[in-house]
Amino acid sequence: MTIPTAPFWICVEATHICSGVERNYCGPVTERILEKIDDFDEQFLQRILFPHRVTECKTERCEDIITVRISAVHPTGVPYSLRLRFRRVTEFQPLEEFLEEFPNLRPVYDVLADFLPENIAVIRQKLKLRETVRAFAIKRPPILYFQDVPPHPVTFAHELIHLARFERELDEEVYAHNLSGTVVFMAEKGIKANPFRLHDLTEEQVNSALMEVGIKSVEEFYEITRCIPHTHKITPDGLRRVAEWKDVLATFIAEVTAGIGYDTLCEQVLEKLLLLTTTQ
Ligand SMILES: [Zn+2]
Repeated sequence: MTIPTAPFWICVEATHICSGVERNYCGPVTERILEKIDDFDEQFLQRILFPHRVTECKTERCEDIITVRISAVHPTGVPYSLRLRFRRVTEFQPLEEFLEEFPNLRPVYDVLADFLPENIAVIRQKLKLRETVRAFAIKRPPILYFQDVPPHPVTFAHELIHLARFERELDEEVYAHNLSGTVVFMAEKGIKANPFRLHDLTEEQVNSALMEVGIKSVEEFYEITRCIPHTHKITPDGLRRVAEWKDVLATFIAEVTAGIGYDTLCEQVLEKLLLLTTTQ
């Protein structure tokens, strides 16, 4: 797939009506939205949705919006309908040119470059979207859109993470949310590591990283920072863990990355954790 040639129709909004219940999904129809429309098996939805998701315009019409309605009966007999709203996109720019225009984003791209597909295109026209949608990424073909140009480096990293190829165990938004700040931190500090492996660390590894800054455990870290997440409960004997390690780790990474920029302890811990991902 090369850079899209204009015009393209991109689905920017979906309304899913199932058994009389209406649900709205703003933002382009991506795999993530398909996951949210979870009443049906994904393959069935993909067969219906994907031909419409990013479609080359084959008509001569020049309207800016097309609305497609799909009504169907699921194999289980449940009737439902989907309303998809498409917007016409004509201005694409290769990511390489975008980076030349905004060189401060280049180091962020470089951190993720090994994980990204080729021929990423950036939409360079302003799209009228719901106000809550500030940016989006479409995977196939790889397309980025930013409501503010240039985007904040963290927003840029967030959308690139959506395009990155890596093994996902958690919800994709967890990685994009947790790791976007980390990627910018790595870019600023020149740290070479694999941020996607942060969520694979064992408790022993995390403890060894904490030990280097004089902390014994995740629990002691929370006692110092005095912010107790949902994975822990305060008891008379101290903090008690009430979640599995995967959840404890994901929350711990979220807490540590939230401190980037103002909390040197969090930055020190994050740097030690990142170094572990290169030796796994
Ligand atoms: Zn996201």
